[in-house]
Amino acid sequence: MQLFQAAIVARHEEDEARVRSLLTEALEFESEAADSVANDYTLEPTRSVLHRSAASIAFQIGDVKAARRYVEAGLKGNPPLEIKQELIALAQQIKTLKGEQTDHRRKAPRGVTPVKEVIDHYTANAPVDIIALAEALGLSVQQVVLDDPQCSGEIRKDVKKGGFAGFSILVNAQHPRVRRRFTVAHEIAHFLLHRDRIGNRLIDDRMYRSKLGQGREADANRLAGNLLMPAKLLTKFHVEGIRNHEVLAAKFDVSVAALKRRLGIRD
Ligand SMILES: [Zn+2]
Repeated sequence: MQLFQAAIVARHEEDEARVRSLLTEALEFESEAADSVANDYTLEPTRSVLHRSAASIAFQIGDVKAARRYVEAGLKGNPPLEIKQELIALAQQIKTLKGEQTDHRRKAPRGVTPVKEVIDHYTANAPVDIIALAEALGLSVQQVVLDDPQCSGEIRKDVKKGGFAGFSILVNAQHPRVRRRFTVAHEIAHFLLHRDRIGNRLIDDRMYRSKLGQGREADANRLAGNLLMPAKLLTKFHVEGIRNHEVLAAKFDVSVAALKRRLGIRD
């Protein structure tokens, strides 16, 4: 554990080589501890805590194989709900990272199957946990008071505070919740569609206008709507007879205006 903390300190000092070597050393200890209780299914929550710890460190040094092995082994036990959820979230992050590592060199990241799988996982139920989806894709989300109160949010390269993809999403904390959720979805869409054009930072104003231009902004808005209001859930609710706009908007935790746009209804 001390090695792990030393790695965090080193990360703040931006000493990547030292972070890596400390984490590699920490992984040796943590994996040994996890392995020693691997067959003792009565030893909970210790067993799952140790497996989560080993998986998390392995993930941070990009050892996808080891990370996945410890996540799977951890889930085979009887982890408390909180640890179980963390293991499942880690499994999704691992999927993304594996997708990036294997497919990135051969083809563009867009449409890569593991990322699609991760999106499907988080868009299976309403309301969509949009922050968990962002984190699973390697983005950290920070709710902050922005310098410009007219700003909706931004996505920026962020080695220190960003997720494993190296980006942070900043959201205007003064906006209402449904709007903040849409902003997160909109910035995720920029990451998925326009990652190569973000540069160091991409700022969206109140109307979701940015340096990318109208066409790309429209694409980001469309994908944001699809992430928050997946077609399969819209169909499901329709079949169940849930058609009232206010009720549907509440189910998806979006604004009625966003719901109407998604349904193609013009005011
Ligand atoms: Zn935008």
